[in-house]
Amino acid sequence: MAETVTRIAELTEKLEAIVGTTRVLRDDAVLERYGRDTSHGPPQKPDVVVLAQTTEEVQRTVQLANQYRIPVTPRSSGVGFYGAGIPEQGGIVIDMSHMKKIRRVDPRNRWALYEAGVTYGELQTELAQHGMRPIMPLLPHPEKSAITSCLEREPRLSTKHHLDETILTMEMVLPTGDLFHTGSMSVSAAPPEKIPEEAHSDLCNFMGPGIDWFRLIPGSLGTYGIVTVMNTKIAFIPTRQKVVFIGFKTLEQCVEPCYYILRKLIGDECFILNNRHMAEILAQDPDDIPSIAAKLPPFIVVLNLTADAWFPDEKIAYQEQALREASRIFQFIVLDHLPYVTDAAQTISRLLYQPWHNSEYWKFRAQGASKEIFFLTQLQRAPEFLTVVHERAAVHGYPRDAIGLYLQPKQNGRAFHMGVNFPYNPSDPDQQAWVEALFLDASKALVQHGAFFYRIYGPWADLVYSQTGNLHITLKRIKKILDPNMIMNPGKLGF
Ligand SMILES: Cc1cc2nc3c(=O)[nH]c(=O)nc-3n(C[C@H](O)[C@H](O)[C@H](O)COP(=O)(O)OP(=O)(O)OC[C@H]3O[C@@H](n4cnc5c(N)ncnc54)[C@H](O)[C@@H]3O)c2cc1C
Repeated sequence: MAETVTRIAELTEKLEAIVGTTRVLRDDAVLERYGRDTSHGPPQKPDVVVLAQTTEEVQRTVQLANQYRIPVTPRSSGVGFYGAGIPEQGGIVIDMSHMKKIRRVDPRNRWALYEAGVTYGELQTELAQHGMRPIMPLLPHPEKSAITSCLEREPRLSTKHHLDETILTMEMVLPTGDLFHTGSMSVSAAPPEKIPEEAHSDLCNFMGPGIDWFRLIPGSLGTYGIVTVMNTKIAFIPTRQKVVFIGFKTLEQCVEPCYYILRKLIGDECFILNNRHMAEILAQDPDDIPSIAAKLPPFIVVLNLTADAWFPDEKIAYQEQALREASRIFQFIVLDHLPYVTDAAQTISRLLYQPWHNSEYWKFRAQGASKEIFFLTQLQRAPEFLTVVHERAAVHGYPRDAIGLYLQPKQNGRAFHMGVNFPYNPSDPDQQAWVEALFLDASKALVQHGAFFYRIYGPWADLVYSQTGNLHITLKRIKKILDPNMIMNPGKLGF
C-alpha cells in the first residue's frame, strides 16, 4: 500500500513536469467525478487526472504510463451513457476536453479539422459562420465531444450513404506513445492544419495508404489509441427546409412506405420515432410527456425536405410531388403538423441541425435516466424485434407505453439503427435494479433473435463474443501488438 502511494506521488510529480501543476488533479472530489459518467453504473476513481492541451502532452503522458505500467484512459466529454470512459482499473485519466481548437475549416471541400475536446455545440457555432453544419446524430448531448461521437459510430441523421461515415483523417497517439496519422494526413509529419500547404495533401482521403487505417480506432473505446485531432465531413446548411410527418398505427405499416421513400431519395433526413420519443422532444414540460404521447400517432416517420440555393422552390415541389405519389400508393396522409402539437414541424426543423439545447437530455427528461438497447437491423425485421422488446417488458412488468423507439435508416435504407429506451428514476434503487434486469434480459433475447449488436459496451461483450468464433481472440492479438504493456483503457471490450 505504502509502495503504491509513493509510486503515485512520484508519477504525479512527473506528470506535473509535463503539463504543469494546475493541470494534474488529485483532489478526491474531482477523482470521484471522473469515476462516473451519466450511466449510473459502478463508479471507479482514477488515481490521477491529466488535463491535456496538446498532442505532445498526450504522448508524454502515455509514455510515462508505459514506464510505470499504469492504466491510462482517455476521456473526451464524459457524458457517455454506458461507462465506456470509466477507468475500470484506476490509473491515469487523460481528459481531452481542454483540446478545444477548431484548426481549419474547408467549406469548398466540405471538411473541418478539430481537436478531441471540441463539442458539437462549439463545432456547430463555428461552422455556421461558414454556412456549414456538422453531420450529427439525432439531437446529441450538447457537451459531447464531436470526435468521440464519430469514434463511437453513433448513427448520423442523414440517410445518404456517403455521409454515414464522417471520419476523413486522424492524428492519434498509439498505446506505446508513438504518433500515427491515417489517410492523406499520413503524407507529412507537419501539424495537420499545415499539411495542405506543406505537402499539397487535400486531407480528404480517408483510405490507405494500403490498409484503411481509419477503421482501426472507431469502436475501440480508447483501447487501441487516443485520437487527438480529426477531420470530418461537414455539410451545407440548406437554404430551405420543410419538415413533414407521416403517422402510422403499427410499425409494420411503416415498412413498405419507408423503403419506397428512401429508394426514391425523398428528403435529406428521414427517421422513425414512436409517440413516446416524439413527446420527449416536443413537450415543454416533462410532466406533459405521457399526455402528449397519448394524442400522437403511435409511430411517426419524420421527413426533412431540403433545398439549396439552386431552384429551391422546384426542388421542394418535386419532393412533395413524389411524396403525394407515395401517399396514393401506400394510402397514408402527409401531415404538415402533428395533432395537438401545432408547432411540431417548426420545432423539429429548428432542432434537427443542433445538439440538444437543454441540460436535461431529452431521453432522460421523463424520469431522470434511461437505459437504451440499440443494434442494427433491416426495417422489415424491426416489428419482430419490437415484439421481442414488448414481450420482455411484459415479463418484467415494465409499462409498454413508457418505452421510446428510434429507427434511423443508414445508406438510404439498406440498414437501420434501432434503439429502444427504458426510462427510470435513478434515485430509486429498486427501479434501477428493475430496469437493469429488463435491459439484460431484453438484450439477450434480441441477440438470440438475430439483432446485430455492433457497438460493444459493458455486459454486451460476453453476450456478443460468445457467438462470434475467434473474433475476440483476434481483437486481443491486435491489442497486444499495439499495446504491449496492456495499459490503455484495460477492461473495456473484454481486454
Ligand atoms: C446504449 C447507448 C445509448 C446512447 N444514446 C445516446 C444518445 O441518445 N445521445 C447521446 O448524445 N449519446 C448517447 N450515447 C453516448 C454515445 O454513444 C457515446 O457514449 C458518447 O459519444 C461518448 O462520448 P463522450 O465524449 O462523453 O465519451 P467518453 O466517455 O469521453 O469516451 C467514450 C469512449 O471513448 C474513449 N475515448 C474518449 N476520448 C477518446 C479519444 N480522443 N480517442 C480515443 N478514444 C477516446 C473513452 O476511453 C471511452 O471508452 C449512448 C451510448 C450508449 C452506449
